[in-house]
Amino acid sequence: MVKYEAVIGLEAHVQLKTAAKIFCGCSTSYGAEPNTQVCPICLGMPGVLPKLNKKAVEYAIKMILAVGGTISPESEFARKNYLYPDLPKGYQISQFEFPLSKGGAVVIRDANDIEKKIRLNRIHIEEEAGKSFHDIDDRYSFIDFNRCGTPLLEIVSEPDMRTSKEASDFLNKIKQIAVYLDISSGNMNEGAFRCDVNVSVRQSGQKEYGARREIKNMNSFKFIVKAIDYEIEKQIEIIKSGGCISQQTMLWDEKAFITKPMRVKEGASDYRYFPEPDLMRLDVSSEWIEEIKDTMPELPDAKLQRFIGEYKIPAGDAEILTSSRNLSDYYETVVKISGEPKLSANWIMTELMREIKETDISQIKAAPENLGGLIKMITTSEISGKIAKDVFAEMIKTGNTAEAIVEQKGSRQVSDIDKLSAIVEKILVDNKSNVKKYLDGKEALFSFFIGLVMKGTDGRANPAMVNRILKDALNKLRG
Ligand code: ADP
Ligand code: ZN
Ligand code: MG
Repeated sequence: MVKYEAVIGLEAHVQLKTAAKIFCGCSTSYGAEPNTQVCPICLGMPGVLPKLNKKAVEYAIKMILAVGGTISPESEFARKNYLYPDLPKGYQISQFEFPLSKGGAVVIRDANDIEKKIRLNRIHIEEEAGKSFHDIDDRYSFIDFNRCGTPLLEIVSEPDMRTSKEASDFLNKIKQIAVYLDISSGNMNEGAFRCDVNVSVRQSGQKEYGARREIKNMNSFKFIVKAIDYEIEKQIEIIKSGGCISQQTMLWDEKAFITKPMRVKEGASDYRYFPEPDLMRLDVSSEWIEEIKDTMPELPDAKLQRFIGEYKIPAGDAEILTSSRNLSDYYETVVKISGEPKLSANWIMTELMREIKETDISQIKAAPENLGGLIKMITTSEISGKIAKDVFAEMIKTGNTAEAIVEQKGSRQVSDIDKLSAIVEKILVDNKSNVKKYLDGKEALFSFFIGLVMKGTDGRANPAMVNRILKDALNKLRG
């Protein structure tokens, strides 16, 4: 039996969230009326001149620094010529021979949970095309040019991935870093993060790569995984039945869950690349790079290690809590107030995460300071863990502080020793026969007595204290 191995390389496209487009002043904001954010430059009228948006280059440099790419001091824009309805100029300004960055890597974990470096080939800047709509009308297609000229990073990996899981982990990492750096929304539904997936297969042990097929323009992790798995299986099937793979560009059919040939894969020569005559070469000084370095936030991997070391929480917890910058900031504020790293982690990973499943953490009314305050009230025994959950539910609704909610509901824990002792005494007197059974050996009745105390205090009795007082009282009766 011959065994096969898949080889996967990705080209991730990351929209940069600059306010203005890359070569003109038009807004990049998403969701505006079609064709309202356009001008002669981004519509590619003859004779207009592009002017490079410095912010787009700054954002690109942040990404490159984060993945350890080598920034070229002098790179070049190039025209990529092709005809497509959403590209009014007839060419896209991109980078070809001299990209802004070469090399770098992203670290993921392989199937055995061992760190694996996915090398990057290059990162370059380019402009976005417009967007076509084919499903609004049966006879016409529509085009929205608002997206034309939105700055885009293309991050090209080496063919270092071997499974669909590695591919999706790699993409997740890129997206996470971009969002941490605050250079992209990473919003896949809005098309701000997409990728082309290159897949080939080869016999295990074979050194040369097989011919690849490329699936264009994927924007959902679920479909990326499905499409890769489908391609791998299909290619193996073709080879096994005596066929061979030809380099092709494929499209993912998201209704049939299969890939379909779109066209014979174009080579670089088809695009007739040439240096963009309307733009100077792009000079990046080392001083500017240093300046940008100073503004870099702590990145996810570093933060993960810091959380494990500083808060002494399990790696699994730290991974979840650092998955987004918002969430990690939220956690750190909660800990600052509560002084309880692990308990805070638990609360966030269960109670809070349940709430943010549907929305974004920025929409949550419960401020981290208030959740911290709530956790503190648990550790100081002012409220029980059980009541804390009710308080939190209220906090999610109103945004009030734990103190205020507890005050208003009168749910402060009863930790008054005299008060609790009196309640315990009364219960033992009222339940003489059960007390006798307990003293005769029916130990299980202990929790029955606890239940009565809780009932008598609307669940507010301090459980640890009740436990102790009840034990003492029963021991005394035992004589
Ligand atoms: P193109 O624009 O023609 O797709 P690029 O060089 O921009 O070419 O991208 C090539 C991508 O394909 C890279 O991500 C690379 O890792 C990947 N790749 C190259 N050869 C193979 C192969 N044999 N199998 C899988 N992926 C490959
Ligand atoms: Zn414009
Ligand atoms: Mg490609």
